[in-house]
Amino acid sequence: AAKGDGRGIHRFFRDELLVGAQSRKQLEDDLRNALASNQFYIVYQAVVSTRSERIVGYEALLRWEHPTRGLISPTDFIPVAEDCGLIEAIGEWVLRTACIEAAGWPNDVRVAVNVSPIQFANAALPAIVTSALAKSGIAPHRLELEITEGVFVDETATTEQMFRTLKGCGVRLALDDFGTGYSSLGYLKKAPFDKIKIDQSFVKGATIAGNRNAAIIKAIVSLADTLGMETTAEGVENHDEVTLIRELGCSHIQGYVYGKPARAADVLMHLAIADGMATASGYRISRSPR
Ligand code: C2E
Ligand code: MG
Ligand code: MG
Ligand code: MG
Repeated sequence: AAKGDGRGIHRFFRDELLVGAQSRKQLEDDLRNALASNQFYIVYQAVVSTRSERIVGYEALLRWEHPTRGLISPTDFIPVAEDCGLIEAIGEWVLRTACIEAAGWPNDVRVAVNVSPIQFANAALPAIVTSALAKSGIAPHRLELEITEGVFVDETATTEQMFRTLKGCGVRLALDDFGTGYSSLGYLKKAPFDKIKIDQSFVKGATIAGNRNAAIIKAIVSLADTLGMETTAEGVENHDEVTLIRELGCSHIQGYVYGKPARAADVLMHLAIADGMATASGYRISRSPR
């Protein structure tokens, strides 16, 4: 039910939409059971270099196939998992599974995994990451952790320590959904990010003359370049957007223009076919962006 604060009320209405007649408790119980019942799987979305037009990695995106309600979006169930304490176990499963699946890819293809602020606040995260790397055998620099500004909300001394510890593990760090929420330039100063992911809301409409989104993307790219960080434009859906994003200087593109996220077996097949054409800078995309 509603918690009384604005956030709780917002969530209450969202959950009503989500579960209909079913109780919130039922959804939590279903979620609790989902891991043991193998109802989760990961789909992977290609990240393409604007320079080489080749795939340099994939982002792991969690999917929940509910036995009666069908596919439920992570934007609907991740907040529930965060509220009821299940995100730790689910997040650990995603990390381990993504690393194991990536171990079958050519060893210059990266995998990016979304990490909830709740996982980030747990001192056990570096050990979980190290263990996932060791069990899969992938090199630490092939794993990129995607973190949102949410990690800075309850910022303490341990937040900065966690960034340092994770960097010490050799993994890459990306700031996800940049430009939404309470984006502060202070975050960029404090944390050793390797990449900024520019939220898809800036890509939408950026190709229309006079639209201010292109100016914002340009400014973010300029800042990232100065700080030595890569930039990925999210949600790129058509060729006009690809052209503009290239002009604005983003180093990477992710979006439906290069295909919807795909199951591990399909990714593996695509990479195996592309392997013959591989170069050190990445793997061919199936469709030419032009
Ligand atoms: P995100 O990390 O920003 O992921 C990008 C989202 O944009 C994905 O939605 C992806 O399918 C979608 N997308 C990619 N290209 C396009 C495009 O061209 N157009 C449009 N309209 N959308 C595009 P998805 O898979 O529904 O995931 C939504 C969010 O759920 C993610 O946003 C992330 O915040 C969260 N999420 C997904 N998997 C995990 C996970 O394993 N752990 C955690 N903590 N969060 C996750
Ligand atoms: Mg992400
Ligand atoms: Mg994002
Ligand atoms: Mg997002």
